[in-house]
Amino acid sequence: MQIVHYPHPALRWVSKPVREVNDEIRRIAGEMLELMYASKGIGLAANQVAMPLQLFVLNPKSDPNQKEGERVFINPRIIDRKGLVEEEEGCLSLPGIFAKLKRAERIKITATGLDGQPFEHEAEGLASRAIQHEVDHLQGILFTDKLNPLEKIRVIMKIREFEKNFRHGQRAGEIPANDAIAKSLQELEAAHC
Ligand code: ZN
Repeated sequence: MQIVHYPHPALRWVSKPVREVNDEIRRIAGEMLELMYASKGIGLAANQVAMPLQLFVLNPKSDPNQKEGERVFINPRIIDRKGLVEEEEGCLSLPGIFAKLKRAERIKITATGLDGQPFEHEAEGLASRAIQHEVDHLQGILFTDKLNPLEKIRVIMKIREFEKNFRHGQRAGEIPANDAIAKSLQELEAAHC
């Protein structure tokens, strides 16, 4: 398992709900948490590891020793948003790009946990921002899609650089071709969704 970078097609995949929380899903979530901590992130969506599942992991403390902040959200749905706040944001699939973006200040979310039970969660500040960012990933949306024109102009050259590097990686055979990626995503979807 590894984190894919923009413009990997998995990042544009609209993920379907997970059918059943089984051992395989628990294994995937566990590996994603490890990868998130290793990458010093606070959240990681399944799309970012090329898995088309409505699943993301989160720990706003970004510290594996602070397990109380650790959560896995399966089939999440944001059911309430309040307030609006602009803060700088980044993404493990676009490393090095940071831009200011307005998000709801507080959110309420429902999801299924690793135990297969539904739960409700309220978040504010950094956790709220991270959850909104990860829920967007599951819909194939990146934070850079939502930037205002000035912020977009500021980062557009870096975005182009990612596109160039990705195409170069595919030509060099280091990254699979788009049709091979789509086939793999469809197989995973058939297995879990
Ligand atoms: Zn991201």
